[in-house]
Amino acid sequence: MRYGIFSDVHSNLEALEAILDAIEAERVDQLLCAGDWVGYGADPTACLAILRQRGVLSVCGNHDAAVAGQMDLDWFNPYARAALEWTSTQLSEGDRSYLRNLPLVWTDARLTLVHSSLHEPREFHYILNLSDAQASLRLQTTPVLFVGHTHSPGIFVQEGERVSFQRIWPLRIEPQRRYLVNVGSVGQPRDGDPRAAWCLYDSEEKALEVRRVPYPMERAQSKIQQAGLPGFLADRLAIGY
Ligand code: ZN
Repeated sequence: MRYGIFSDVHSNLEALEAILDAIEAERVDQLLCAGDWVGYGADPTACLAILRQRGVLSVCGNHDAAVAGQMDLDWFNPYARAALEWTSTQLSEGDRSYLRNLPLVWTDARLTLVHSSLHEPREFHYILNLSDAQASLRLQTTPVLFVGHTHSPGIFVQEGERVSFQRIWPLRIEPQRRYLVNVGSVGQPRDGDPRAAWCLYDSEEKALEVRRVPYPMERAQSKIQQAGLPGFLADRLAIGY
C-alpha cells in the first residue's frame, strides 16, 4: 500500500490543495490525516468538504474536538481561541457532527494514526522529547505510528530500549525497529520551513519520506485578514512558525 499522510491542515485551503496535487502525482492508495482540519485559517468549510468527499481516513485533533463542542476553549491560547470562535460561526451542524464522529485513534495491521500521542490521546499531550515519545512507543502495536500536533516533522526510532530522534529522509523501515513519525503540518508549519508538509509511506517498499510543497501563501494570508482573524495568524505562515 502507498499512503499519503498529512496533518494539521488548519483551514488552509491553498496548502491543502497543493499537497493533494503532489500526493496525486504519487499514485497513493489511501489518504490519511492525523487531525486538526480547522482552526487558525480562513477556509474551514472548504477544507472539511475535501475531507468528506475525498475519502480521507482521519482522526480527531484538538481544534476539531473544540469546534465539535467536545473540548473547553480555555485550553487554547488567545489566537487559537479567537480563530476557533470564528470557525464555529462558519460550520454547519453536518460539519460539526462529522468532526464529532472522528475517532481519536485509528489502527490496522500496518500503522497507527493519532493526533497527539497514544498515551492519553484525549488529553492531547505534545511529543517534544525522547521521554514523551517513549510513553507512546510503549503502547504502539504497529511498526509505524503517525502523529501531528506539534507542526514540526521528525521521526523517533526505537530499537530495543534505545530511542533516537532524526529529521533525515527518505527512511527505510527496518523490521527490528519501531517508528513514531510526526508528519508536520500542511497549513501552519512551525519548523522554520513555511512550505506545506506531507508524508509518503510505501508499506511494501518499506520506505517513508516527509516532503515539502510550496503553495500560494499570499492568498491564504489575505483571506485570514479579510475574515477579521488575528493578523499574527497570517504573518506566521511566511516564517513557518
Ligand atoms: Zn494543530
